[in-house]
Amino acid sequence: MGGGIAGLSSALELSKTGYIDVEILEKSSFLGGHAIQFACKATDRCVSCGACMVEEKLKQAVENPNIHIYSRSRIQKITKSEKFSIDIIIKPAYIDSKMCTGCGVCLDTCPFEGSVIRGFSKNNMPLYTICEDSCLYFKDKSCAKCQKLCPEGAINLDSLESCHTSEVDAIIAATGFQPYNPVSKPYGYGLFDNVVTNLELERTLRKNSTAARPSDGKAPRDIAFIQCVGSRDVGLNHLWCSKVCCASALRMANLIKMRQPDTEITFFYIDVQTFGKNFQAFYDEIQKNIRQIRAIPGDIYPTRDGRLQLTYFDGAKSQSVDETFDLVVLSIGLIPGQDNPDLAGLFNLEILETGFLAPVENGTSGICDGIFTAGTVEGPMSIPETIAHATDVSWKAIKYLNLG
Ligand SMILES: Cc1cc2nc3c(=O)[nH]c(=O)nc-3n(C[C@H](O)[C@H](O)[C@H](O)COP(=O)(O)OP(=O)(O)OC[C@H]3O[C@@H](n4cnc5c(N)ncnc54)[C@H](O)[C@@H]3O)c2cc1C
Repeated sequence: MGGGIAGLSSALELSKTGYIDVEILEKSSFLGGHAIQFACKATDRCVSCGACMVEEKLKQAVENPNIHIYSRSRIQKITKSEKFSIDIIIKPAYIDSKMCTGCGVCLDTCPFEGSVIRGFSKNNMPLYTICEDSCLYFKDKSCAKCQKLCPEGAINLDSLESCHTSEVDAIIAATGFQPYNPVSKPYGYGLFDNVVTNLELERTLRKNSTAARPSDGKAPRDIAFIQCVGSRDVGLNHLWCSKVCCASALRMANLIKMRQPDTEITFFYIDVQTFGKNFQAFYDEIQKNIRQIRAIPGDIYPTRDGRLQLTYFDGAKSQSVDETFDLVVLSIGLIPGQDNPDLAGLFNLEILETGFLAPVENGTSGICDGIFTAGTVEGPMSIPETIAHATDVSWKAIKYLNLG
């Protein structure tokens, strides 16, 4: 369950045995989870951000004949006797993955933004899908332009939901995390165009290679990164460190500095978490390029000239300081997935005080044998950690199935 990097890694590891059939049930339209949205942050050399690992595993999974993928699927019912019997409902993508060549005519000719959605990776199959909530065909049938113009005839807007029943011996819950929504923080997210999250900046860098102010598309003169938005926060009872945000933000800052050298970058932080292979060396190296201030700004106001004013307390000078920036990036934390309570109820899993799921040892979760948890469904992890964890969990599953 879950087609993020944890689910993909588990599926690939299990399929390597050559005699295990794997099904990936993914609730969204595209595989890859959050990490497929990230930009490669290599400058003149690789900085080990992990983004390429996700691309690689996604490609391997979609090409693997022993891995069957059900995107846009939701579980309707699960029963267990000797095996699990899982009834799933699959929403149509409206675009046939075997016929679609990824030409993009559907997206280019669609008159209503948000109706045709493109996957983040060229390895997503199909590369496009139709969003029923925005598409005019699903409102009043007034437009079927994409269906008429698709050169391959790959689009059928009248496709129906289908059902599928899986009979499986074991289930790996790899349903991931959700990013913290910072609307309730005093940073004007959702109010001011030029306050964005680190996830939004990742997507922009992936698509356009450079950073821009959403308000006018211009290159920002200066950017402030604010760390720990939604993590290490007593008020929210989110006491955990999200572990990946410092490295992710500093790698993005470094990339922007290389591609847009005139942009000044300031990094506001509580503590810099230097987890991960080679990160300390990278951190030492970027000191000269990125200004770092150990303080978290209080709130943000727009100025008359379209900039954003931040106020923070300068501990060294014992005074509060006002500074203005063109773009503010909020490094939002990793919080428990929204389906965790349902999963816990369904499989009798333990929910930790944080809201993440407790690891399931040896496939036994009280009443249900054959359940495992993998990746960030258990708490914040980086991409390499998630891959290592999911691989290890797959071996536990293989052992449980008496195949190891
Ligand atoms: C802004 C940001 C930047 C980051 N940058 C980096 C970085 O540079 N380097 C790094 O190593 N790590 C980074 N990370 C961490 C990285 O995102 C995670 O390590 C990785 O995404 C974890 O993968 P996962 O499969 O556990 O979870 P997810 O990526 O959340 O994937 C879970 C999948 O399960 C699906 N799902 C959820 N519920 C269900 C359900 N009920 N049924 C079926 N499917 C379901 C979801 O749709 C999703 O596809 C970053 C995180 C954030 C938020």
